[in-house]
Amino acid sequence: MHQPYPWPEGKRAAFVFSMDVDSDSPWAWINRDRSGPLYLSHLEQRRFGLREGIWRVLDLLERFDIRGSFYVPGAVAEAHPYLLPRLIAGGHEVGLHGWFHEFVTEISDAEFSEALERSLDLFHRQTGQRPRGFRSPAWEMTPHMLAEVQRLGLYDSSLSGFDHPYQIGGVTEIPVQWAMDDAVYWKFLGGGGDLAPPFAPAQVLEIWQQEWRGLQDFGGLLMLTVHDYITPRAHRLKVLETLLAEVRETPGAWIARACDLADWHNSLSEKHHWQASPTAPAGP
Ligand SMILES: [Zn+2]
Repeated sequence: MHQPYPWPEGKRAAFVFSMDVDSDSPWAWINRDRSGPLYLSHLEQRRFGLREGIWRVLDLLERFDIRGSFYVPGAVAEAHPYLLPRLIAGGHEVGLHGWFHEFVTEISDAEFSEALERSLDLFHRQTGQRPRGFRSPAWEMTPHMLAEVQRLGLYDSSLSGFDHPYQIGGVTEIPVQWAMDDAVYWKFLGGGGDLAPPFAPAQVLEIWQQEWRGLQDFGGLLMLTVHDYITPRAHRLKVLETLLAEVRETPGAWIARACDLADWHNSLSEKHHWQASPTAPAGP
């Protein structure tokens, strides 16, 4: 039975800024056997993210006084040991995002668990804190992964079954949505592997704005997901700036980190209203 989601007193809808700091980790995974050509072109596009991209976005967030959630592959945190402490010092949240951004379809359950625990250890060593949340590389999820996230007491932010927090398989889910992800519109690495040219900034702004305006009626969450090397190109950053300005000016907007939403959801006495099962439907 449908029931409106209760946000904190005086809040009508929620906005989370999130960044998946992939950098060059998917490249390292895709080219792990070093058998084909090592495309420097792809590598350099991705490395723009930590050289320039993320700093532009952090400046923007500071200007709007917004703290976000940053999901970082273990390999990226290890190669850039200043990154996690710097994000935490700015009041942002850091969460797990695989080790090499491994794709679920290409690893075993044991390899997934190992990458998760290895990342947890590294984050703890680098920040003195245990990360609170997990976001799956490419937002794929299996029952084993969900059970591991539950075993380690993490929240998840990879699924899309509601547009506000919910529970699935005993895990608190802070949901994502593909249409609110910059990669759908702007990821274009070249070399013939791309499906379509990048969208115009105005098209993406309209989609993100319409979602935010629409969610005011339903009391939902806009989980924006950008990447370190995709949105921070100059023409796209304007889209982010315009959206953040509108969100900031919206009465009753709760702008928070995903971990804050997880805490809020876990504190609700009526949270059982939004409980989902990961059980698959019966086949023929
Ligand atoms: Zn990613």
